[in-house]
Amino acid sequence: MPSSGDAASRRPHVVLIPSAGMGHLVPFGRLAVALSSGHGCDVSLVTVLPTVSTAESKHLEALFDAFPAVRRLDFELAPFDASEFPGADPFFLRFEAMRRSAPLLGPLLTDAGASALATDIALTSVVIPVAKEQGLPCHILFTASAAMLSLCAYFPTYLDANAGRGGVGDVDIPGVYRIPKASIPQALHDPNHLFTRQFVANGRSLTSAAGILVNTFDALEPEAVTALQQGKVASGFPPVFAVGPLLLASNQAKDPANYMEWLDAQPARSVVYVSFGSRKAVSGEQLRELAAGLEASGHRFLWVVKSTVVDRDDAAELGELLGEGFLERVEKRGLVTKAWVEQEEVLKHEAVGLFVSHCGWNSVTEAATSGVPVLALPRFGDQRVNSGVVARAGLGVWVDSWSWEGEEGVIGAEEISEKVKAVMGDEALRRKAANLGEAAAKAVAGGGSSHHCLAEFARLC
Ligand code: UDP
Ligand code: UDP
Repeated sequence: MPSSGDAASRRPHVVLIPSAGMGHLVPFGRLAVALSSGHGCDVSLVTVLPTVSTAESKHLEALFDAFPAVRRLDFELAPFDASEFPGADPFFLRFEAMRRSAPLLGPLLTDAGASALATDIALTSVVIPVAKEQGLPCHILFTASAAMLSLCAYFPTYLDANAGRGGVGDVDIPGVYRIPKASIPQALHDPNHLFTRQFVANGRSLTSAAGILVNTFDALEPEAVTALQQGKVASGFPPVFAVGPLLLASNQAKDPANYMEWLDAQPARSVVYVSFGSRKAVSGEQLRELAAGLEASGHRFLWVVKSTVVDRDDAAELGELLGEGFLERVEKRGLVTKAWVEQEEVLKHEAVGLFVSHCGWNSVTEAATSGVPVLALPRFGDQRVNSGVVARAGLGVWVDSWSWEGEEGVIGAEEISEKVKAVMGDEALRRKAANLGEAAAKAVAGGGSSHHCLAEFARLC
């Protein structure tokens, strides 16, 4: 804690410790800006270079350029031998490398003069002990849904109660709802998976955190937020601050694909925006079904295609990926790009009428912010849990029988085309999504629930 009594030194200094991947870095950047520009905090953002993906390094560069008040705190990791985990996802490997280096954070925090920490969920169990040694309160930023937070908090109890009874089945979360077996992230069915080990260790240590911030808002996840705040999910749970949707902080796009100009030329709500996030490849076969489905739907579309897990590896040609003649046939009504697009701006554009999304949590919060209906096409991890949130909240439609990664079969072109047509024509859904957009704006405005939660949090720092 600051030692001298003058006003400047009493300003809280929050050190934010994100893990890897845009899904984690984006909400941390947004939190950094919200705390530093709106809540009177000094903020430092722990940065590990080189980043796993190019998108992350560009994002960091743009953030520090646009917000010089956010300080960069370079963190050098200890050497890490990834050969212990052959074939593991590069982002999970970075989580592990950061987890093993956590004790090195101590001196960094002392030198920075931190008054509080907020760390990523993936680092929870290893950062809390470091914060304790430093006498600092350690908060968690949960970058996914409150439903997923409740699963993370309850899963260790579920495993203990089910020990020896076979694999993971439906998980009935107290006070929330039942997450069906088919929606549980793939990795969690394997107790020895690197992700599962981290997830369980972090879930067990959540009760030792000083507080938990979650990037959601009351109207989007009423059951889960209330159950967590009332301590129904796990006993002795710390305060939960629903502070979302965290809003756009910086813009890294140079727009090489001219997508904004293209959108400007399209009629209102006529465009289907299609994106599967920043960190997971969609299989070649599924890409071609999607292409055919979009073509058959007859609608205009803006499609961001990604064919590798890490963007640096992505050298494939669009024409090859999507099948012969596709790009030429749809030239008049489709824009397809492999470039980075500034998604939040795309979703805000009045030409966009539907978001076909993998339902990474940031994408869901961005759709909610813009009031754009979602057609959910989850692929892996927490995305089916998030798709369930989308459907419950009336933000969009999810066909829960559609396959995802690790299951047999692909979603066929005809099914995709029929659903796109149906959702584009669904006026009631459009209204519900728009209402949710209004609720999101109210939540983050002065006097709103999320604004209030963030102010409460800042007071604890
Ligand atoms: N994103 C973007 N442009 C792209 C791809 C992704 O701006 O071309 C952003 C997107 O808006 C979101 C983040 O990257 O903020 C991805 O996070 P999300 O949780 O949606 O999915 P993930 O990439 O972690 O699967
Ligand atoms: N997560 C978690 N505990 C952990 C690590 C991750 O609850 O120890 C959550 C994370 O917030 C996300 C989900 O598990 O909801 C999947 O994590 P991943 O890093 O794959 O998310 P992504 O990078 O796709 O956003």
